[in-house]
Amino acid sequence: MSIQITLPSGSQVQNVEGSSMCGVRSYNSWKQFYIGGKRGHNTRPWPAQCRIYGCSNVATLGGHVFCVGENGVWIIPMCGTHNSSGNVNLMTVNANTIAVQVEEENTSGPSGPCYSSSSSSSSSSSSSSSSSSSSSSSSTA
Ligand SMILES: [Zn+2]
Repeated sequence: MSIQITLPSGSQVQNVEGSSMCGVRSYNSWKQFYIGGKRGHNTRPWPAQCRIYGCSNVATLGGHVFCVGENGVWIIPMCGTHNSSGNVNLMTVNANTIAVQVEEENTSGPSGPCYSSSSSSSSSSSSSSSSSSSSSSSSTA
C-alpha cells in the first residue's frame, strides 16, 4: 500500500544522492511503480511533462526525491535532465504534483537513499477508550 501525497503549489524537492542503486520491486521501473496498478491498486495517471516548475521536457522516469517538509523518499515523474545525480539543487514542483512514497518493501536498495526507515507512518492511532466500568451496581437488600 503506497502512500501518496499531493504537493501544494510552491513545494520543493531535492534529488536523492545515491538513488541509482535503488532497485525496484514488483515493477519493471520506478515509472511503473508510480503508475501502480498491481494487487488491486488503482493506477495513477503519468503526466506528459516533467513535474519540475517551468520544465517542458517529457517525463521519462520516476525520480527519487526528498520533499521539503515530508519524511521519507518519494517518486515523482521527471525528465532525465532534472533527475541527474549531479543535480542536488532544491527544485520547485508544479502545483498538484503527486509524489508516491517508497517503502522498504518496494525496493531492493538500502535504507537512506532508497527509502526512509524512520518514516513515522503511524497515522492510524486508534485511541479506543476501554473504560468499561465493571462496577456492579450495589443492590440494596
Ligand atoms: Zn525537467
